[in-house]
Amino acid sequence: MPKTWKTKLIHPDAHAPEGFSSLAPATHRGSTVLFPNAAAVQDTWDQHAVGYTYGLYGTPTTLELAARICELENGYRTFITPGGQAAISLINFAFLKTGDHILVPESIYYPNRKFSVEVLERFGIEVSFYPPTIGAEISSLFRKNTHLVWCESPGSISMEVQDVPAIAAAAHKAGVLVVLDNTWSAGVYFDAFAHGVDVTMQALTKYVGGHSDILLGSITVRDDAAYQKIGLAHQLLGCAASPDDCTLALRGLKTLAVRLAAIEKSALVLAQWLSARPEIELVLHPALPSCPGHELFKRDFTGSTGVFSLVFQKNFTKEQVHAFVNNLALFKIGYSWAGVTSLAVAYDFGSRPDRPDYGARIVRLNIGLEETSDLQSDIEQSLRRMAQS
Ligand SMILES: *Cc1c(COP(=O)(O)O)cnc(C)c1O
Repeated sequence: MPKTWKTKLIHPDAHAPEGFSSLAPATHRGSTVLFPNAAAVQDTWDQHAVGYTYGLYGTPTTLELAARICELENGYRTFITPGGQAAISLINFAFLKTGDHILVPESIYYPNRKFSVEVLERFGIEVSFYPPTIGAEISSLFRKNTHLVWCESPGSISMEVQDVPAIAAAAHKAGVLVVLDNTWSAGVYFDAFAHGVDVTMQALTKYVGGHSDILLGSITVRDDAAYQKIGLAHQLLGCAASPDDCTLALRGLKTLAVRLAAIEKSALVLAQWLSARPEIELVLHPALPSCPGHELFKRDFTGSTGVFSLVFQKNFTKEQVHAFVNNLALFKIGYSWAGVTSLAVAYDFGSRPDRPDYGARIVRLNIGLEETSDLQSDIEQSLRRMAQS
C-alpha cells in the first residue's frame, strides 16, 4: 500500500538496526498495548496471567521493577504505585468496607493517619489509634469487626520499633490482616513476611529511588488472595506509575547496597556522637538503647538506615530549635528523606496526649552521602550557636 510522508510519520518503513544489548533497562512507555487479533482483545489487570493488555497495568519496565522489589522483600507479587501515599490509600480501599474497624499506630506516617480520619471515617470505617509499643497487648483492642492493623516500624519521627511478630501473632489469631509500612528499612533490613506481615508497602521515593527526583510506591503481598484484591483496586483506582520513574528506580536499585552501607555507618557515628552532647536529651535511633524498642530492633532487623531524631533538653525553646535547623549549612530543610543530601526538619508534637512528651524539641535528621566529619562539624557549629542564642 502506497504511503504519503504524513502517514509514514505514524507507520514508518524505516527502522533502527536490531541487536542492541546494554546494561541499562529499557523504558517501555505505553497506554495502548497491541493485540495480535480481534479475539485476543481483553481488559484484564493480571498481566502475569493474561500477558500485556493495557499500559495502566504495567509495561515491561513497571513490571520489572515490581518483580525486583518482590524478590528483595521475599513476597509473592508486587504492585508499583505513583507514590508511597497512593500505596497506602490503595491498600485501605482494597481491603476495607463500611462497618469495618482498623487499628493504626499513633506513630504512623502523618498522611496515613490523615487518610484514616478524613477518608475512611467518612466511608463508615471505624479507626482506633494504638500506642506503637503495645506488642501482644493489641489483642485487647480487637473488636468483632476489626479487619486490619497497620504497623510502621520504626514509627515516623518518634522512631518506636514495634513488636511486629507479636502483633501479627495476635492479629492472625483474631483473623485480622497485618499491613506494614516498611519504608525505613528500604524493604531489605526487615524481612516483613518472615515476621508475620501479610502486606507491605514502601515509598520507593525514598531509598530505592535514592536521589530525591522521583515519586513511586510499592505494595507487596504474600499470597494470591491479597494479590487479587490489590490488583482489582489498582485497576479501578487507576494507580498507574510512570515507566520513566520506574527506570530511575531500577537504576537506584543498582547502588542501593553501597548507599545504604555508607549511610548506615555515617548515621551511627553521628547518632552516637550526638547522644553524648549536653544539648541533647535523647537520640531516637533504633540501633541505640535510648530508642523505644531498641531490643526489638536488635532481634528483628539486619541493619539500620539514615533517618533518626534528636530530642533537645527541656530548657530549649521552639525558637532555639528552629535556629539550630536554620543554622545548619549542609543539612537542608525539606521532606522526603533517603536521598544523597542530608536534611533536617523540626517538628512540634504540641501537647497531644497520643504523642510522646517531646513538645517542639524534636528534630528529624536524614543522613546523606556527605563526608561524616563535615556533617559532624556542621551540627557542632549549629549547636554552639544555638546555645548562645
Ligand atoms: C514518604 C513516606 C511515605 C509516602 O511516600 P510518597 O512517595 O512521598 O507518597 C509513606 N510512608 C513513609 C514512612 C514515608 O516516609
